[in-house]
Amino acid sequence: MAKVDYYEILGVARDTDEKGLKVAFRKLAMQFHPDRNPGDHTAEAKFKEINEAYETLRDPQKRAAYDRFGHAAFEQGGPGAHGFSGDFASSMSDIFDDIFGEFMGGRRGQRPSGGGGRERGADLRYNMEITLEEAYAGKTAEVRVPTKIACDACSGTGAKPGSHPKVCTTCDGHGRVRAAQGFFSIERTCPTCGGRGEIITDPCEKCAGSGRVTQERTLQVSIPAGIEDGTRIRLSSEGEAGLRGGPAGDLYLFLSVKPHSLFQREGADIFCRVPISITTAALGGQFDVPTVDGGKTRVKVPEGTQTGKQFRLKSKGMPVLRSKEMGDMYIQVVVETPSKLSRRQRELLEEFEQVSSEENNPESAGFFARIRDFFGGA
Ligand SMILES: [Zn+2]
Ligand SMILES: [Zn+2]
Repeated sequence: MAKVDYYEILGVARDTDEKGLKVAFRKLAMQFHPDRNPGDHTAEAKFKEINEAYETLRDPQKRAAYDRFGHAAFEQGGPGAHGFSGDFASSMSDIFDDIFGEFMGGRRGQRPSGGGGRERGADLRYNMEITLEEAYAGKTAEVRVPTKIACDACSGTGAKPGSHPKVCTTCDGHGRVRAAQGFFSIERTCPTCGGRGEIITDPCEKCAGSGRVTQERTLQVSIPAGIEDGTRIRLSSEGEAGLRGGPAGDLYLFLSVKPHSLFQREGADIFCRVPISITTAALGGQFDVPTVDGGKTRVKVPEGTQTGKQFRLKSKGMPVLRSKEMGDMYIQVVVETPSKLSRRQRELLEEFEQVSSEENNPESAGFFARIRDFFGGA
């Protein structure tokens, strides 16, 4: 689709002031607003065009750039098809991307490239949050991606069925033109046809001439067991459809693992803090702890267990990605000091204190011995 001059779109003179632009924009926007023209794709395309023109001209910096370079200052795929980014800085970098081509990598896909305007589809990012249990077991996830696919009405050409695009006269169908910019002579995408080499005079109504329509696709993605937080899964060619026969982009699945209320994960190991009473710690005992596989396991605590003591449960951690190995689970006990004592409990503890000796408290005995050494010994 040929890019019409922004001033022409708004029907204003080139020296119109801000107020004149606004009045013209309002009038046209009212007329072509999608709410007023339900189902009318031509009006919708027109509405987008009006918006794009106004967004550019109302900004003095962009207007100056447009007056100087025309549409080339904001090169991108085509009007109507995509939202107008309107970012001048990124538009300039687009021009450089065009020069360096694929070298830049990570192409956003809404930019025309050489070769008759074939354009690679945009890469898509899909964020997914899974639980630790799901990361443990792995899962098959259903991913619903709204994506642009080739329009079936026009087979992706953008031209109304039965009509044919015309060869662009600005670039004679090459899609590229040479222009001097400062010291450089730069070959860049043809501003008239947006690099397609042809102009669609009769756009397809279904896709407004872009050749693509948005559709939700459902993909089955298998998430392997042991996946870590922040893992990125690349699904080759599952991104947006390319333009005019260009290759499809990729779909990137960004996985995050939800924090767990009981378990902390470090690599393949699982850590779990378990509070135990002073009596269990002193007398020894046993208790059940849940494991990440959904089961539970019994932990035996010997008498005289100190707070912070760790118990290792071999192979009760997370699976190691793409291997048969398993991490371990570590139980860290925290000895809990009793509170809200009854009179009877208090009596018992006081009595206990009276019959206690240094050897009942090995840690503090050692600590006070070190203090004595520090002050010169006794
Ligand atoms: Zn179409
Ligand atoms: Zn052209």
